[in-house]
Amino acid sequence: MVVQKFGGTSVADPAAVRRLIEIVRAAHTGDGKGPVVVASAMSGVTDALLAIAAAAGAGKDTEAMSRVAQLRERHQLAARELAPSQRHQLEEALGSSFDELAAVVRALAVLREVSPRTLDVIAAMGELINSRIVAAALIEAGLPAEWVDARRAIVTNDDHTRAVPLMRETRAAMRATLVPIVEAGRVPVLGGFVASTTEGHTTTLGRGGSDYSAALVGAGVDVGEIQIWTDVDGMLTADPRVVKSPRLVSELSFAEAAELAYFGAKVLHPSTILPAVERDIPVRILNSWKPDGAGTVITAAGASNGTALAGLASKRDVTVVDITSSRMLMAYGFLRQVFEVFERFRTAVDVVTTSEVSVSVTVDDRRHLDSIVEALREYGEVCVEPEMALLCAVGDRLRNEPAIAARVVAVLEEVPLRMISQAASRRNITVVLKQADLSHAMERLHEEFFA
Ligand code: ADP
Ligand code: ASP
Ligand code: MG
Repeated sequence: MVVQKFGGTSVADPAAVRRLIEIVRAAHTGDGKGPVVVASAMSGVTDALLAIAAAAGAGKDTEAMSRVAQLRERHQLAARELAPSQRHQLEEALGSSFDELAAVVRALAVLREVSPRTLDVIAAMGELINSRIVAAALIEAGLPAEWVDARRAIVTNDDHTRAVPLMRETRAAMRATLVPIVEAGRVPVLGGFVASTTEGHTTTLGRGGSDYSAALVGAGVDVGEIQIWTDVDGMLTADPRVVKSPRLVSELSFAEAAELAYFGAKVLHPSTILPAVERDIPVRILNSWKPDGAGTVITAAGASNGTALAGLASKRDVTVVDITSSRMLMAYGFLRQVFEVFERFRTAVDVVTTSEVSVSVTVDDRRHLDSIVEALREYGEVCVEPEMALLCAVGDRLRNEPAIAARVVAVLEEVPLRMISQAASRRNITVVLKQADLSHAMERLHEEFFA
């Protein structure tokens, strides 16, 4: 039995949903049980919902309402085409969701303020609505599907917009909501990305979070494989938007996949691997346009005869913060003080390097940067450099073969590197460079290791 997650482009329109139906049918008849289907919002819908929230919060209610009408139209069209015989029930469900959305938008336009909690109510709509359409389309195609409200299956804390799942509560919720459906030979369909707190407030798992939902379901229902169906053949050796012709990586270890995802391989949400590791469930990334492809399989063991590097990842819009102080020399406690500032402003730090009198860190989330800089000034001179990028070369073999790391740095000899870091896992070597140099550096490395 497997869990199958379909991303935005794999549910973008009726043609995509028809491909989904055949993929689900093959799994259902093949295994005689399941699958559990996790559906994303249609592509572009989460962005549109967030734009609606922003417009409403800025008092631009006409703009917000016209976008709501467009979304209503797009979903109604898909519903009519995919499930004509369930038209009435579906239209009622969609109607009440969109009426609720419109009511929230009107209220925001008056209040002119969007709290993270309200933002979650709005952002969750895309998955909640689309999963209903997907369930109806599967039923229409003769499969025993049953829609499940994801908020009754995944329980999180109240850190709205990037809520953290509570594992024990989530497993209990899944035992009550998903397991009986699977045991009855039916196919549960739920929206990804969406969850709720123990008090029943809607939360979301952060952008790209449907992958994470699928992994949580996989662990909660004890499946044999977690499948991530997307619009590329699998994990590629580099981001196809940065490197011209990346290759498919057929096998990866959990650790390699986690590093690639964390350092920018958008095809997989970085938290997806955790539930899979805990229960040792393989994760497979597959292309919904080419269902016969083998994709990338991610397991504890990884590749049997791996290449020198497994892949490259990159992140743009990274900011480097340097703190320089002679007080750091031979002192203790200095780093604690510095990191406490980042903790206070709930900002994650990605890469860290230190010298005798300075520490450099990179951050992704600039929301609290001004306050952070001000607080850091108490400890030393602070310098901020925006428009930087992070390039990360990942591979299990880096652990035992120091020559590979040397080759990475040597290939980049003509590119000015701002920071270089190799963490204790020694599974990745990360460099920080100017964003303008990123694509050249990626191409050079890709050519060296994967051409
Ligand atoms: P979905 O909507 O299916 O979740 P995403 O857009 O979140 O899909 O992720 C798939 C996209 O991730 C690909 O279309 C590709 O542009 C991008 N991507 C970035 N890095 C990689 C990589 N190393 N391998 C594969 N895809 C990558
Ligand atoms: N729809 C959500 C997003 O766009 C979640 C997902 O697709 O994974 O971020
Ligand atoms: Mg995604």
